[in-house]
Amino acid sequence: MPLSDRLLLGPGPSNPYPEVAEAFARPLLGHLDPEFLAILDETCDRLRSVFRTSNALTLPISGTGSAGMEACFVNLVEPGDTVIIGVNGVFGERMCEVARRCGTEVVRVDAEWGTEIDPQRLLDAQRSYPHSRVLAVVHAETSTGVENDIAPLRALSETETLLLVDAVTSLAGIPVEVDGWGIDACYSGTQKCLSVPPGLSPVTFSPRAVERVNTRSTPPQSWYLDLGLIGDYVGSARKYHHTAPTAMVVALHAGLGAVLEEGLEESWARHRSVGTRLQESLVELGFSLIAPPTRRLPQLTSTRLPEGRAEATLRKELLMGYGIEVGAGLGAFAGVAWRVGLMGHSARDRSVTTLLGALREIL
Ligand SMILES: *Cc1c(COP(=O)(O)O)cnc(C)c1O
Repeated sequence: MPLSDRLLLGPGPSNPYPEVAEAFARPLLGHLDPEFLAILDETCDRLRSVFRTSNALTLPISGTGSAGMEACFVNLVEPGDTVIIGVNGVFGERMCEVARRCGTEVVRVDAEWGTEIDPQRLLDAQRSYPHSRVLAVVHAETSTGVENDIAPLRALSETETLLLVDAVTSLAGIPVEVDGWGIDACYSGTQKCLSVPPGLSPVTFSPRAVERVNTRSTPPQSWYLDLGLIGDYVGSARKYHHTAPTAMVVALHAGLGAVLEEGLEESWARHRSVGTRLQESLVELGFSLIAPPTRRLPQLTSTRLPEGRAEATLRKELLMGYGIEVGAGLGAFAGVAWRVGLMGHSARDRSVTTLLGALREIL
């Protein structure tokens, strides 16, 4: 059965860069083939450029963004540890659940969905729980379209608490400064602003995060996501742990190449420009935006529909009649909102023009 060619404007996956589509047509290589290992090494270098870090432990984890989240928690915490988690949407909630399953004591810092978390409240929580091992926060909350401010959390580098950041939707879409913001562990995903199909989760660990992993008293509860074991393959030992998804790594290598060839700053500027255009036009059509203007993500717009419009009906009409995918609201916004993504290769003026044209016809 032939598959339809969709314009992917949901919360991921985005349409792949042409270089990525081409990468999937290349011959398959084995996971220990020197040609593949050279591509893997270069992929890790390219990830360092995109994460803006010099961290040695920077690599793609097998699995989607959630695997990266789980890898960060299972490697950094041990049962009985205290962790502080900022929660203002679905993905903050998920971090709490993963941390809880690791046997940790979770201290939540909640903010209303659709608003940002004041970084000072996170720093105050750390002062109240100075023995906390990790403070975790989502940079770009994809369930609400809100950006949380990470830069002020750099102050944690003066404490024993590691800073863990979810950059799944932010990486390559808006500035992410792993070294500049003092981030100790960061995970992302391939299918958002990197425009590679879902399947890998880039992660990076600072030297002090690596030291934390190396001085654990118990091995991580997950064997598959044990960064010590994975590091023995990605690092110079090249010791078999699990079969690396070689075609996905070749595709990620190509996607990162596209981002770096355009330029990271240019990619941020492109996301900003098309996101702003979409948001202004939606308001003209009667939509009401959820995120506050100062913390509004350009790559993910959360919006309520015009008065009297059923979200599921309209969303289905866009997909079936026009081949355009947008996302439904999640959690508190299920049934009442949309999430429109303009990520990676999908972040183009022509995507906005096509979507607005279809919406004007339907409305
Ligand atoms: C998409 C997303 C995830 C989860 O990624 P999957 O690829 O669906 O596993 C985690 N955090 C944020 C902020 C996301 O947008």
